[in-house]
Amino acid sequence: MKTAAEIFRDHLAQTTPFPMGIEIERAEGSWLYGPNGEKYLDLISGVGVSNIGHGHPKLKEAIHQQVESHLHTMVYGEYVQSGPSRLAEKLVSLLPEQLNCCYFVNSGAEAIEGALKLAKRNTERSELVAFRGGYHGSTHGALSVSGNETKKRAYRPLLNDVRFLNFNAVNELSQITHKTAAVVVETIQGDAGVRIPDLGFLKALRARCTEVGALLILDEIQSGMGRCGTWFAFEQFGIVPDILCTAKALGGGLPIGAFISDREIMQVFTEKPMLGHITTFGGNPVCCAAAHATIEIIESENLLETVEAKGALIEELLSQAKRIVEIRRRGLYFAIDFETEEEVQKIVLGLLEQGLISFWFLSCPHSFRIAPPLNISEEEIRFACQLIVEEIKKLD
Ligand code: PLP
Repeated sequence: MKTAAEIFRDHLAQTTPFPMGIEIERAEGSWLYGPNGEKYLDLISGVGVSNIGHGHPKLKEAIHQQVESHLHTMVYGEYVQSGPSRLAEKLVSLLPEQLNCCYFVNSGAEAIEGALKLAKRNTERSELVAFRGGYHGSTHGALSVSGNETKKRAYRPLLNDVRFLNFNAVNELSQITHKTAAVVVETIQGDAGVRIPDLGFLKALRARCTEVGALLILDEIQSGMGRCGTWFAFEQFGIVPDILCTAKALGGGLPIGAFISDREIMQVFTEKPMLGHITTFGGNPVCCAAAHATIEIIESENLLETVEAKGALIEELLSQAKRIVEIRRRGLYFAIDFETEEEVQKIVLGLLEQGLISFWFLSCPHSFRIAPPLNISEEEIRFACQLIVEEIKKLD
């Protein structure tokens, strides 16, 4: 009989020739466990997903309860089911009043696809504006508005009416015009290596969109759900988008995404044309129950209030390490720059051997990525940072 590792290699599609390849049997809190007593501290939350850690008992209970009641009963949008309804009520209660209508989908890329279509129908324009360095997903539409040329080249032609501007360049915003349907932007660019824009940039972007009637789509698929210390990062920049995209940590480990706007904006999918965007599994009741429980856990454990102090502690503990060129951080969302990509690879692989999971950024490989669960303990932080500092010393 083949081992799980052999089946993984032979029968599962691979995304890289060098997957991390560690075997996971169970996960709890900030820790992942292998079948032979291996133990890993997860400093990347499964890439922005496990903001409440792994296997939270209240999350599991909510999932079990929903499984007992019912699983999928009908495609999105036909039946009244308490899971999606209660989740929508909860989500909009966290948001400004213009963001009052949720469309649930299954992933981040799908949320972006829906948002782009929504903006095109509302404005009856086709041009999309996006930013260099942005990442919005791997489907055709999401890839079209993503910046990484190496990833895109092989799939052309993509959407042809996309204009790219430099992130954080206020002087380029005049290129957003009356022809622009939507501007799509990560509030904080993630894959580009946690690039935090100036306050003035997002405010000017918001103003320009309003001036020319383009819809502003904020991608908070990675920066949202408490990662930056507020429910969504845009709250820290004094702006409100026309359409907000969320996914990843929303489901606490189950697949769900959403794009959220004003009900009037969303109305085009109902009437212009009817069935303007449809999905079978969007709003899956089990995923919605998980998302609802995730929000309640973040609330009841006051996790948002702890994010800044934990982030600052990590920054302080790591700042003693030589070789670090720059630390960029908002809350518990970190990019740590080294001179070279090779240094980051050595650190990540060395740490993995010590049982610590970290990563780099696909579009910024000389940056070391950490984004731990928001409920990581101070003890775990100190333990992790000590290992990281020692691993960095080995570069000397
Ligand atoms: N947008 C951002 C900012 C992301 O980080 C990602 C995934 O990493 C996506 C969109 C795509 O999400 P998904 O992988 O769920 O399609």
